[in-house]
Amino acid sequence: MYDLVIIGSGPAGLGAAVYGRRAGFKTLVLEQNPMSGGQVLNTYEVDNYLGLPGINGFDMGMKFREHADKMGAEFREAMVLGLEDQGDRKLIKTEKEDIEAAAVIIATGASHRKLGAPGEEELSGMGVSYCATCDGAFFRGMDVAVIGGGDVAVEDAVFLARTSRKVYVVHRRDSLRAAKVLQDRLFELPNVEMCWDSQVTEIKGDNQVESLILENKKDGSKKELSVQGVFVAVGIAPNSEVFRGVLDMDEAGYIRAGEDCKTSMPGVFAVGDVRTKKLRQIVTAVADGANAVTSVEEYFLHTSH
Ligand code: NAP
Repeated sequence: MYDLVIIGSGPAGLGAAVYGRRAGFKTLVLEQNPMSGGQVLNTYEVDNYLGLPGINGFDMGMKFREHADKMGAEFREAMVLGLEDQGDRKLIKTEKEDIEAAAVIIATGASHRKLGAPGEEELSGMGVSYCATCDGAFFRGMDVAVIGGGDVAVEDAVFLARTSRKVYVVHRRDSLRAAKVLQDRLFELPNVEMCWDSQVTEIKGDNQVESLILENKKDGSKKELSVQGVFVAVGIAPNSEVFRGVLDMDEAGYIRAGEDCKTSMPGVFAVGDVRTKKLRQIVTAVADGANAVTSVEEYFLHTSH
């Protein structure tokens, strides 16, 4: 039996692993794929993590992992299918085996939300992408569109503008949600064009994206935008489905937990993007990992462990 099992190996999970090992816990990190690493691995540049300005996201994710590894955390590839409360021990059900833990930290993060437009599913991987840093290079010299108005959409657009000929940013309102510093960077680029108040009603193409149909939400007018790539950046959804009915969640599926990361099940904690919180950033994810382990230590004072 492990003292601590952490489900997920993004910054929140790895932060918890480092703190877990420092607390002397026999710690296991479960990850869906080898080197899962979370969203940070697909981030081109992280410029708001203290002390590491401009670090490449992949390098940062690898550093986090090396740190947890060096501290002695174990890693195992496993698809988690369920979680069972057996009082002072928890049972984590995976495809291959059941794993026992005295405490569990859920760090499963969040994934890209889909746009839901006709053509999106069919042309996914054929011009429709959810990761500009992964796929941007395929669209060198071409025209592309980024859908969304948050930090990710604007970061993606800035990234793509370096290599693509033209980048359209399609946003459903007339102002962006993204941080001001990112907006400033975007608006000074000569090859970026904003499509305000616009909703994508269809992604068209025959085995490859050819165009987008946009509808103006204010006057109802429609226009066709010729593009070869569409980068969907309309937010994230929590990876919490497997815990539905087991842990309390909000309407959007985020696991309810405060700064102490305690969930509705004693001995189970939620950290990072999967928990209810205001600011989802790498720094707040890492901080959750530290807070959760402190809560685990407190929890052990009241159990037979
Ligand atoms: P987000 O902040 O939730 O933004 C999603 C954007 O997509 C919004 O502009 C939203 O429009 C739009 N949208 C949502 N559903 C849509 C739909 N069906 N059709 C068209 N547009 C739609 O998500 P995010 O940009 O992925 O960021 C996720 C989290 O990571 C945020 O908390 C963000 O701050 C954080 N993050 C931070 C950084 C950084 O600090 N450098 C970098 C990346 C991510 P509305 O604006 O109209 O709602």
